[in-house]
Amino acid sequence: MFSKIVIANRGEIALRVLRACRELGVKVVAVHSEADRDLKHVRLADESVCIGPAASAESYLNIPAIISAAEVTDAEAIHPGYGFLSENADFSEKVKQSGFVFIGPNADTIRMMGDKISAKKAMVAAGIPCVPGNGDPLSDDDKKNLKLAREIGYPVIIKAAGGGGGRGMRTVHTEAALVNAIAMTKAEAGSAFGNPTVYMEKFLEDPRHIEFQVMADSYGNAIHLGERDCSMQRRHQKVVEEAPAPGITQEQRNQIGERCAKACRDIGYLGAGTFEFLYEKGEFYFIEMNTRVQVEHPVTEMITGFDIVKEQLRIAAGERLSLTQDQVRFTGHAIECRLNAEDPKTFMPCPGKIEQFHMPGGPGIRCETHIYNGYKVPPYYDSMIGKLIAHGEDRKSAIARMNTALSEIIIDGIKTNIPLQHDIMNDSAFIAGGQNIHYLEKKLGIS
Ligand code: ADP
Repeated sequence: MFSKIVIANRGEIALRVLRACRELGVKVVAVHSEADRDLKHVRLADESVCIGPAASAESYLNIPAIISAAEVTDAEAIHPGYGFLSENADFSEKVKQSGFVFIGPNADTIRMMGDKISAKKAMVAAGIPCVPGNGDPLSDDDKKNLKLAREIGYPVIIKAAGGGGGRGMRTVHTEAALVNAIAMTKAEAGSAFGNPTVYMEKFLEDPRHIEFQVMADSYGNAIHLGERDCSMQRRHQKVVEEAPAPGITQEQRNQIGERCAKACRDIGYLGAGTFEFLYEKGEFYFIEMNTRVQVEHPVTEMITGFDIVKEQLRIAAGERLSLTQDQVRFTGHAIECRLNAEDPKTFMPCPGKIEQFHMPGGPGIRCETHIYNGYKVPPYYDSMIGKLIAHGEDRKSAIARMNTALSEIIIDGIKTNIPLQHDIMNDSAFIAGGQNIHYLEKKLGIS
């Protein structure tokens, strides 16, 4: 195991990684911006290094500053968390070239999965079900494109190969709109992602978002840890996640999960990863792979009793997977509510000082947050300030526990989305389970 690592992130995930390090006896270097000196994990770390001003571009995205922090502290590895540089192939490469271990897959894998076209090709080759549409880059031949759209059937979606964060996509409902839509998406993709390549696939109208967690080691072993349902979304941002996904059978779980694990073996995947699917009318359609730990990993941890972050560290240190597929057991149901510093009605970010924080508790409750009494939520970063996770023997009991925890938690001084989360937990359609990705926006009256 490593003796010391750098955590190249902030907030709750930095604290989560620090806790995993503590359990494994690994020393922690926190790197932080000038605005983040008071972060909880910075205070708890063995060493800390200020890597730049508040703006992420000059701190958390500043590759030379992060690598030199690893150098001056004599660390051995870098954990990127999620967001920031976690899916940046150049970062992974530079970390390695500088003699450190990147806790994640290698640069080639990140690069391949970061390009939607090469990712789709690799998945088709590995036998993962994909959205109809061959995934070839679209040419300038209008006739050919019109023919392809007719074969796929409208509505279709034009997607940028280099797109991300829900950007670089355009839905086309009629033949009359196709040619123009392709030209516009190409132009936008060129300026936004520096890559004008686009492709076409079937647009699924009412899908659910279901994703599979995988872990792979450097000895060719890979397992899946089942699926999560993340269909409660607003503007492509997940709001509530749960595991297992309502209505998914053990047979479907085994079948798709095993294909994901096989795909990991085929591509030589390393570490934790997530295969994201749209699920409609009983069928799974791959949309993308995330080559990092996800915000919602705790729901999987709660139903499997398996520590995904500790395993990331072990695998990066060259150890074998600590579980075989047969040893993976699913127990009960877990739900996660993201806690955001925002107005629950307008969704405007609401940074500021936490005047009072009271953490909820009781059986099955887990609260992942870096906030504390007197902490000031800075205005520069994502508004997520924590996550509340409830585990119960079944979905009903997980919802009941979440409701109790949401009534107990106190965050005073700033506005949060706790009222919205309470509302969702008491929504009859949510309680029924299995809503699609448009449900929350419809409920909120914004679509
Ligand atoms: P990004 O990398 O930008 O997150 P994704 O490919 O993961 O892009 O897609 C983001 C979201 O866009 C999906 O969660 C889904 O809501 C929508 N989407 C993407 N592809 C399709 C499709 N073929 N049909 C319907 N919706 C889609």
